[in-house]
Amino acid sequence: MLTEELVRDEVRAWLKENWDPDLTVAQWWDRLAESGWAMPQWPEEWFGRGLPGNLARVASEEIRAAGAIGPPSGLGVLLAAPTIITHGTDDQKRRYLRPILNGEEGWCQLFSEPGAGSDLASLQCKAERDGDEWVINGQKVWTSGAQIADLGMLIARTDPDAPKHKGITYFAIEMDQPGVEIRPLREMTGRALFNEVFFDDARVADAACIGGLNEGWAVANTTLANERAGLGSGGSGAVGGAAPGAKARMLGKRVGDVASGPPPRAAGSASGRSAHMLVDVAREQGRDRDVHVRQQIAQLYTLTEIGKFTALRAKAAKAAGRAPGPEANTAKLLMSRITRLSRDLGLEIIGPHGMLMGKDAPMNGMLQEMALFAPAVSIYGGSDEIQKNIIGERVLGLPKEPGPDKGTPFRELKVGTQAG
Ligand SMILES: Cc1cc2nc3c(=O)[nH]c(=O)nc-3n(C[C@H](O)[C@H](O)[C@H](O)COP(=O)(O)OP(=O)(O)OC[C@H]3O[C@@H](n4cnc5c(N)ncnc54)[C@H](O)[C@@H]3O)c2cc1C
Repeated sequence: MLTEELVRDEVRAWLKENWDPDLTVAQWWDRLAESGWAMPQWPEEWFGRGLPGNLARVASEEIRAAGAIGPPSGLGVLLAAPTIITHGTDDQKRRYLRPILNGEEGWCQLFSEPGAGSDLASLQCKAERDGDEWVINGQKVWTSGAQIADLGMLIARTDPDAPKHKGITYFAIEMDQPGVEIRPLREMTGRALFNEVFFDDARVADAACIGGLNEGWAVANTTLANERAGLGSGGSGAVGGAAPGAKARMLGKRVGDVASGPPPRAAGSASGRSAHMLVDVAREQGRDRDVHVRQQIAQLYTLTEIGKFTALRAKAAKAAGRAPGPEANTAKLLMSRITRLSRDLGLEIIGPHGMLMGKDAPMNGMLQEMALFAPAVSIYGGSDEIQKNIIGERVLGLPKEPGPDKGTPFRELKVGTQAG
């Protein structure tokens, strides 16, 4: 039987033979993808080793311990790949999985629209058949990383006469084409993480339809479940140390330089380790004897530990083959709470220095960045209110929100300005 020790020994031996800081990022990722140690929980025939989550984690621990970087960060590995593994055909798995894992292609998630966020099934972006292709028209919004993505997970309406959840199809669309326009949206952090994406007669091959015509809602739910699991466990979507795709300009870098550089500053990435970080800041600022600060740090640490145990419970349930329970929803809510507490406490500790940004500020302005980004955490991946609705309805058995009959054709619903 495969044990933790055996896996650890095998990964260590492989790293000893194969980790070479003089390779380019692209060469290293290719080697890692080929070995099955990049995502060991994936099936053996698709670049994994079919390991349960607890043993797969050993591989990432060892990769980190060796000073190497893991597989590409971002939505390809985190969302697109598990969705394709679950719903894709063998041809699609052959086409998409390897370039995801070796970083050749980066992905973005084209789900939200101006009138369809929490109520995602109200989306209006439409796909119309034209021979072996589909023609896409409409708008998406809040698309993280669209400006560096090669492919997008697109959900579009293919049957406006069907009820809203039933007329949606899931496509893998090429982003570099004349019918796709990407406009960055600047956040209050000063960065432009997300974008508006406009489709004007953009095209996608029928062969790139994942999970079957009008079956997109079930496919999108697999993507969303993976998103919640990643976010609830304290992650931000970042799996490894660098972003994939030629447009991210990491592939040609020396991998040793990337591995020894600062960790990627991904959305919300500081919150998981913020209790330890805030202890350091409190000492540095002479606030570590302040009773209120100490109590708040203790509370933050406690909440973070509870979050870790909740994530472990969810993983154990998954490994035992049980359907996901409410853990993902409570974990996501807890992340929002931890983030707000970190924000308030961080700014309280540094006091007037909170007005500074960048390298003149304590910790190079990391606390200010975290504070400015904090509202996002309770919105993306399903807002706090939506998590509470799900817990109320599906866990506590409270009555459902009133709304039109589930069988009402999308065309007859009063959704935004849609004309069907
Ligand atoms: C940083 C960030 C990155 C993102 N990246 C992506 C991405 O890459 N791809 C993508 O497709 N989307 C992305 N999103 C979009 C995100 O999924 C949506 O913002 C989210 O689903 C909420 O939708 P909305 O913004 O349209 O708000 P709305 O749905 O309009 O909600 C507005 C407010 O009303 C509340 N509300 C809505 N419905 C209910 C209800 N039934 N009961 C109680 N309260 C309710 C909400 O909680 C919220 O407070 C991102 C968002 C953020 C903040």
